[in-house]
Amino acid sequence: MSDTTAPMAETSLPEFPQIAPWYEYAVERDRVTLRHGDGAVVFQGRAASDFLPTLFDWLDGRHTVDEVSQIIGPVVRPALDNALSQLAQHGLLVQGPGPDAPGNLWRERTATALSEATANSISPADVAQLLSRTHATVIGDGAVATEITRLFTRSGVSTVRAVGEDEAVAKLDRADLPADSQHLVVVAPALTHAQVLGDVNRWALRSEVPWTQVLPYDGTYAVVGPTFLPTETGCYHCFRLRRRSQLDFLPEQRALDAAADAGLVRATSAWSGAGQDAAIAGLALHLVLWSVLPATLAARPLAGRSYTLGWGATGMSLTEHRLFRVPRCRDCSRVRDLGIPQPWFEIGAVVETSSAPRRRPVGADGVTAAVPVTRPTMPVRGRPPRPRPWP
Ligand SMILES: [Zn+2]
Repeated sequence: MSDTTAPMAETSLPEFPQIAPWYEYAVERDRVTLRHGDGAVVFQGRAASDFLPTLFDWLDGRHTVDEVSQIIGPVVRPALDNALSQLAQHGLLVQGPGPDAPGNLWRERTATALSEATANSISPADVAQLLSRTHATVIGDGAVATEITRLFTRSGVSTVRAVGEDEAVAKLDRADLPADSQHLVVVAPALTHAQVLGDVNRWALRSEVPWTQVLPYDGTYAVVGPTFLPTETGCYHCFRLRRRSQLDFLPEQRALDAAADAGLVRATSAWSGAGQDAAIAGLALHLVLWSVLPATLAARPLAGRSYTLGWGATGMSLTEHRLFRVPRCRDCSRVRDLGIPQPWFEIGAVVETSSAPRRRPVGADGVTAAVPVTRPTMPVRGRPPRPRPWP
């Protein structure tokens, strides 16, 4: 991979210069105007309107400057050098893939979008290389999983596996991927209360593999994320405990979660609309792909964060939520069984409880943010400490 991660000096030129791919431009008699996002760059003069459109055609990232000069005519080399310098100074050149890069239209398009998200901190060509080393596993039996699988394929990742919910853990255990590759695991079950979510959660905690949940529309909202990062963020069971704390039918929700763990939840029918499924899958796919980028150059919008897409009688909403780990989560906590808790535990512990939840006001941090302050239902103080393992 070429080194394009460092900011480009104002006058330096890429080896294979490519016109920045995010711009729309208009050519008038004595000026060329390029626009992207909330900014515009204008080159004035008759020479600009005569010369730049032709030059743009050859700044495709597959030719060197000398080759471009030979193509458009060596007599204008001074004008070419000046034009390239001006384009570089205004951030309008990126490193191209070079002449030998395999063509993959959808991979290049996805790479261009991801590069733009990093303000070109990493070039589209380098993002395309990262995508070529990325493998995706999509687990789920419903329409959202089917749509995510289709979008992964069109995004140009190396391989995409669609896995049924019943065979998820077995297939994940057998995944044998190259050491230099990245594995994206997305679980998009047909039901909100699917057994596979808990199964993959425990597998991921054992294997220390990140995974992303995508929950279908449940009559109020669909959920995209979070990406659960073992040892860093809360896990799926933490998510369920936080979600319960926001509901005013907590005993019923606890019963549904228990039924989900036993694989006993069914649906009366499949009823989400195709547009809803596509919106959920599109948001999920775009945000999951950000994790392909180097962590030092790109945000992690789904790391411990989720987005709810709500549909109601008056329209739709999109809300971001943070997932906070539950200190004594049965699945991911390392202090759960360490014996006597801190003295203040009994007055501030977050545990599964039959007490009524504390409701947050409408519009607060949502399903994953509330920390219910309740007393534990079991006398944790009397639990004997677990023996330490041998060193
Ligand atoms: Zn947890």
